[in-house]
Amino acid sequence: MLLSIVVPCYNEQEALPYFYKEICRVAEEMKASHGADFEFIFVDDGSKDNTLAIARQLHGQDARVRYISFSRNFGKEAGILAGLEAAKGDYVAMMDADLQDPPALLPQMLDALLNEDYDCAATRRTDRKGEPPIRSFFARMFYKIINKMSDADIVDGARDYRLMRRRMVDAILALPEYNRFSKGIFGWVGFKTKWLEYVNVERVAGETKWSFWKLFLYSLEGIVAFTTAPLALASLMGIAFCALAFVMIVFIIVRTLLFGDPTSGWPSLVCIIFLCSGVQLFCMGVLGQYLAKTYMEVKRRPVYIVRETEADAEA
Ligand code: UDP
Ligand code: MG
Repeated sequence: MLLSIVVPCYNEQEALPYFYKEICRVAEEMKASHGADFEFIFVDDGSKDNTLAIARQLHGQDARVRYISFSRNFGKEAGILAGLEAAKGDYVAMMDADLQDPPALLPQMLDALLNEDYDCAATRRTDRKGEPPIRSFFARMFYKIINKMSDADIVDGARDYRLMRRRMVDAILALPEYNRFSKGIFGWVGFKTKWLEYVNVERVAGETKWSFWKLFLYSLEGIVAFTTAPLALASLMGIAFCALAFVMIVFIIVRTLLFGDPTSGWPSLVCIIFLCSGVQLFCMGVLGQYLAKTYMEVKRRPVYIVRETEADAEA
């Protein structure tokens, strides 16, 4: 039984040694308890620090360590994809390099797959301790909105940390899309998932790679990738405004017939023009989002470009 651990790393030179130490400890335990062998796949997402050097060095001293290094920063989603594609294990786990996803949960997750007929053991954190309150607020809103609009079940507080059976990994890899929103993809492919909960842990070293703005754009990506409801909303708003305009036309004709036509009311006219053009721009923006994503899909560019792997290190 081989377990692949996929770890996307972007500027993680501080955290990586801690991570390696901890995962080795857990691997040893699980070798004894479950007879599991491991491979660790570090995906260096175009780091600007010594992450790659550390990965190379770890590979030199431990044959279980593999690495893939990108030609530039392609984002965490690309890292996850590259890792899943490279993984050879019967079971594949992915986790962050900062120990916010405690490797100590792995035995419990593996038990769920081995003894309870689940295909996947996923984790969610029960709180958002150590996170700015506005970020938590927007995160909650995002989960509410996307779950109303999309049929992929996206769990609030879900981490990307999960252990999957080979068949689920293959299902995920069979999705060819360029815009990859993993949280949605995991939900969309289905399979039986067991949710384990744990209290949020703060990162062991280094700092977070996500700014508020980056997260905001990422959330838009999720919405566009997993639901077309905003397009329907645009049409509905169009219909509502047409209906409103019709009522107003009738009202004004009747009023003119009854009371004559004193010319007044241009301020209200200006307000209406502003409102309507605002709505129009908004709807055009929504359309534009989908068009942009379609454009990126149609280009068929690779999701990531590899600069070096452990195979190069050996050659
Ligand atoms: N990460 C990555 N590419 C990026 C940004 C992040 O591979 O462009 C990795 C990062 O190295 C870490 C994981 O994704 O292993 C989660 O990032 P981080 O801990 O900064 O996010 P947070 O936990 O604060 O949401
Ligand atoms: Mg983190």
